[in-house]
Amino acid sequence: MLSYLSSIKEIDESNVDTVILPIGSVEQHGSHLPVGTDYLIAQAVGEAVAEKLDAFLLPTLPFSTCYEHRGRRGSSICTRPSSFYQILQELVLNLHDQGFKRVIILLGHGGTFIAGPAVRELNAMYDDLQVVLVFPITNDKIRAIMENKTVEIHAGEKETSCMLYLCEKAVNKELMLQNDEIPDVPQEYLNYASLLKLSKTGVWGKPSLATKEKGEKIFNLMVEATIDYIHKAFEATTESKW
Ligand SMILES: [Zn+2]
Repeated sequence: MLSYLSSIKEIDESNVDTVILPIGSVEQHGSHLPVGTDYLIAQAVGEAVAEKLDAFLLPTLPFSTCYEHRGRRGSSICTRPSSFYQILQELVLNLHDQGFKRVIILLGHGGTFIAGPAVRELNAMYDDLQVVLVFPITNDKIRAIMENKTVEIHAGEKETSCMLYLCEKAVNKELMLQNDEIPDVPQEYLNYASLLKLSKTGVWGKPSLATKEKGEKIFNLMVEATIDYIHKAFEATTESKW
């Protein structure tokens, strides 16, 4: 597998044509998780997926879009969606110019919706380029492990479990038990106000149910589901995209 630790000679002389770009976010995750949670998870998923696919792993982009977490110092360090649209397209076009044919964008933050239209336009404009976008996956196997059967959107059982597995020292286990909160509004209210307004803890889920053991299982299932998604998406679009 190639990565940002590879030399230009190794990259240039390889026949790897698939690149993985993980994308994080710097945003509040309640008082029990670090603001870099999405960055850490995207990076770990990226490493596991790149190894399995023998792809070229780029460094994780730390920033994306997260206006929905504004309101406190350090709670939302992001770009405008329109700027992120440009950045994402420019990075992918750099890769395309240099002969890479397949690009996998791995989002660590589910709220970066602008990535969808950016990828759609790239696929429409370039016949010899396939760009696949993977949002954070929660499938039935993952739901079966989780005890919280209600809506879980942010910093809840799933993310907190993954962080206990990937970076235990960054989780405040005392506060984790005090931050359960499920706002009684539809998710799209995040288009109208900050999560910090809708939820006093900044959480949408039940982090008190998180464990390291669940985190290991959930993380491995996320990696498996991500690889499966990528294979299927490339297979379905290789012959002809349109
Ligand atoms: Zn997150």
